Amino acid sequence: MDRVRELDDRYRFMNAYAEGESHGEGLLRGYAVSVKDNVCVNGVESKAGSRILEGYVPPFDATVVAKSREEGAFIIGKTTQDEFGFGTFNVNTPYKIPLNPHDPERSTGGSSGGAACLTAVADFPHVAISESTGGSISCPASWCGVVGITPTYGRVSRWGLIDYANSLDKIGVMAKTVSEAAMFLGVISGQDEYDSTVLKAPVPDYTRMDSVEGMRIGVPQEYLGEGVDPKVEEQVWTAIKKLESKGASISEVSLPHTKYSLSSYYIIAMAEASTNLAKFSGLRYGLQKPIEGDFNQYFSKVRTEGMGDEAKRRVMLGTFTRMAGYRDAYYLKALKVRTRVIEDFKKAFKTVDVLAAPTMPVVAPRFDEIAMLEPIQHYMMDILTVAPNLAGVPMVTVPCGESDGMPVGLHLMADHLNEVKALEAAQGVEQA
Ligand code: GLN
Repeated sequence: MDRVRELDDRYRFMNAYAEGESHGEGLLRGYAVSVKDNVCVNGVESKAGSRILEGYVPPFDATVVAKSREEGAFIIGKTTQDEFGFGTFNVNTPYKIPLNPHDPERSTGGSSGGAACLTAVADFPHVAISESTGGSISCPASWCGVVGITPTYGRVSRWGLIDYANSLDKIGVMAKTVSEAAMFLGVISGQDEYDSTVLKAPVPDYTRMDSVEGMRIGVPQEYLGEGVDPKVEEQVWTAIKKLESKGASISEVSLPHTKYSLSSYYIIAMAEASTNLAKFSGLRYGLQKPIEGDFNQYFSKVRTEGMGDEAKRRVMLGTFTRMAGYRDAYYLKALKVRTRVIEDFKKAFKTVDVLAAPTMPVVAPRFDEIAMLEPIQHYMMDILTVAPNLAGVPMVTVPCGESDGMPVGLHLMADHLNEVKALEAAQGVEQA
C-alpha cells in the first residue's frame, strides 16, 4: 500500500507538472516542496535520520508544512540528514549517504545534506524545508552550490520539528535562487498558536529587495586568514568587491569572541540534545523491542540498537556537562560565553548592515578525507557558522564562485529580524 501511495503521489505531481497545472492556488502553486526528515509530515514516516524513530508516522503536519500546503505546495518527500542533525558531512546516518552533485566522491555537507543535494539537481520547480542548529542549512547549501536561508531564531514556528537543541533550532529554506528562497521564507514565517516562542513582529514581503547601493558591509577579521583555504578566500573577496562596485561600502570589523564560540556551541547544543534524546526510550515513539529486564535495561537495549555512535557520544558529553559539579564549569560558563558572542554581533550591527564572510572554510571535502578526521575535527569544520547560530541572527548563503570545480558560498549575516538586508546582499552577488 505504501508503494502504491508513493507511485500515486509521484504520478500526480509529474502529471500536474507536465501539464502546467497548479496544485491549487497560492504562492507555491507548481512547486514541489521537500521536507528535511526532522520535520513532521502527516502520514509520512518522520524519523530525523534515526533508527530509533523508525516506524514513527506523525498524525499531523508541522506548521511549516501546513503553511506550505496552504500556498498550494505539493509535498514531494523527506530528505536525508545526519542523525538528529548531529553532523557536518551527512555521514552520521544509518541510511544512504547523499553524494555531492558536483563530485560524487565528496560530501554534500550536513546536516541538511539531502535538502541541498535535491535543491541542486531538481529539474522541476522545487524549494526545500530544512533546519539549522549550528550551520546545517548554510554548510550543505554552500557545498552544493544553492541558496540557503537560516532565519532569525523565532521567526519561523518550530511546531512539528523533532528538536535537536531548542535554544538554537531554526527551520529555514533552500532554493536555487535568492528570490525563490525569499518567497518561500515569507510563506513559512510568522506567528503560530502552537509555538509561543515565535516572534510577534509582522512578516515583511521578503521578495521586495532593494539594491545594495549605500549598504554598509562589514568583513569580520576573525573569519578570514588562518584555517580558511586561500582559494576560497579569493572567491569571497571577488564577490565582496562586486558588491562594492555596485555601491556598497566595505569595512573591516571584529567579532572578538569568535574563538570561544565553537566550545560554547558544542557544550550548549549537546547539553540540550542529551535532554531531548531522553524521550526516545522505545516506549512511545518509533523502535520498540520485547520488554525484558527493568526499565534501564530495556532503554539501554533500544538505544544501543537505535542510536548511532555520534548520538551516543552526544548523550554522554551532554549529560556530563550538566552533571552536579561540572554544570558551573561547563554548561553555565558556555551560556555566559554565548552572551558575549551575541554582544559581538549587536555591536557590529551598530556600524554595518550586513557581515560578509566565507560560509565554510574549505570546499566540500572528499569522503576519504572525512574518514581520517577525529570527532573534534568534524566539530571544528563549523568554526564559521556556529557564532551566528549562537546569536540567533539571520544568515543567507549564496554561491559566489568555484574552487577546484566545487562551489564556494558567501555568508551574509544581518541583525535580528533583518533577513531582508542579507537577502539584498545575496541578490546583489547573484546578479553580479
Ligand atoms: N554540525 C553542527 C552539529 O553537529 C550543526 C548541525 C546542525 O545545525 N544541525 O551540531
